[in-house]
Amino acid sequence: MLKKIQLHWQILIALIFSILFGLIFPDKVIYVGWMGDVFLRALKMIIVPLIFSSIVSAVTGIGNAENLGRMGLKTFSYYLMTSLLAIITGLILVNFIQPGIGADLGFQRQLDGLSNTDSFGQTLMKIIPVNIIDSMAKGDMLAIIFFAMLFGFFTTRVDKKYSEPIATFFDAVFEIMMKITMFVIRFTPLGIFGIVAVIVAEQSLSVFVSMGKYMITVLLALTIHSVITLPLISRVIAGVNPLKHLKNMSVPLMTAFSTSSSSATLPLTLEAVEKKSGVSNKTSGFVLPMGATINMDGTALYECVAVLFIAQAYGMEMSAMQQIIIVITALLSSIGAAGIPMAGLVIITVILSAVGLPLEGVGLILAVDRILDMFRTTVNVWSDSCGAVLIAKSEGETLNV
Ligand code: ASP
Repeated sequence: MLKKIQLHWQILIALIFSILFGLIFPDKVIYVGWMGDVFLRALKMIIVPLIFSSIVSAVTGIGNAENLGRMGLKTFSYYLMTSLLAIITGLILVNFIQPGIGADLGFQRQLDGLSNTDSFGQTLMKIIPVNIIDSMAKGDMLAIIFFAMLFGFFTTRVDKKYSEPIATFFDAVFEIMMKITMFVIRFTPLGIFGIVAVIVAEQSLSVFVSMGKYMITVLLALTIHSVITLPLISRVIAGVNPLKHLKNMSVPLMTAFSTSSSSATLPLTLEAVEKKSGVSNKTSGFVLPMGATINMDGTALYECVAVLFIAQAYGMEMSAMQQIIIVITALLSSIGAAGIPMAGLVIITVILSAVGLPLEGVGLILAVDRILDMFRTTVNVWSDSCGAVLIAKSEGETLNV
């Protein structure tokens, strides 16, 4: 019977029931929470071998340095451009709505380990792994991507007798990992049920009332970026049908929403972009793992709104120069943020110190961060997928969107 209902409907039904379950039986969620843990563990299990094999397979497929350079430039430009547009949308709305003026400071919470974030320079340095096995064990995405790209590129530089078996080997690993992904995807509704029921049970509704204006500002800005800006770019620049692509992406987007992790969602994103929207592995294998790690439009937008909200709540006027610094640091720190739940919250401290705001300000937005994280992660994944179809079109691929 379940098999007859399409997966995205199954997930939607699971989402609705999990919210009801969390609201009605908050003390019973331990009985379903384990399903979420099992699902997340299974996704995390897939990530490292999938990313490694998809990048090596993509880069060996792209072939020469010239093509690789062109693809890299396009990908990076798209990521920078959309993140910047997202931040500007947030900047305009937070200045217009001014959610922080008169905000209730009573909800401020203590947060430990606030100064532990890396600077942007340190993040850059960590791209080079000292020990690739250690990076893989820790799931250090940027380091894994960097090494996989080098490995793939130099595979194309050695004699055919060596490069061919290596390329075939990684193509095969990738295909197998995708099969495992498809198997795990079948359990998405159950996993999502477990995750979301627990989140709902842990929220207190009174916080939503007092933080309502702030939440609306973030959600409105995220909506404008994902419903207007990104579809417009995909339509105008690449002639993509955004609605069709959105439908194709429903499973990964709902998973991103429920897990709040672009990294954990990556296997599903790859599957949908390739199998449904029809992007080649050469393009998606290159664009998507990089996107899940460095392209975070939703996070960048959120950083900007959150920092200005904190400034407004403390009654500190931010000059035009300080706002420019916020835009730049929000962009850089979103690149450095990991694709895991609440990563965006911690990196806000980098921006706060750049403009001289108290780090404790993070405590103000802590209570609603987990919920907003669900929305910004969805936007992060949506932007990655739009980038993949846009770049595939620009490379002359024929897609289903
Ligand atoms: N959870 C987000 C992601 O995985 C990152 C963030 O906290 O903003 O994309």
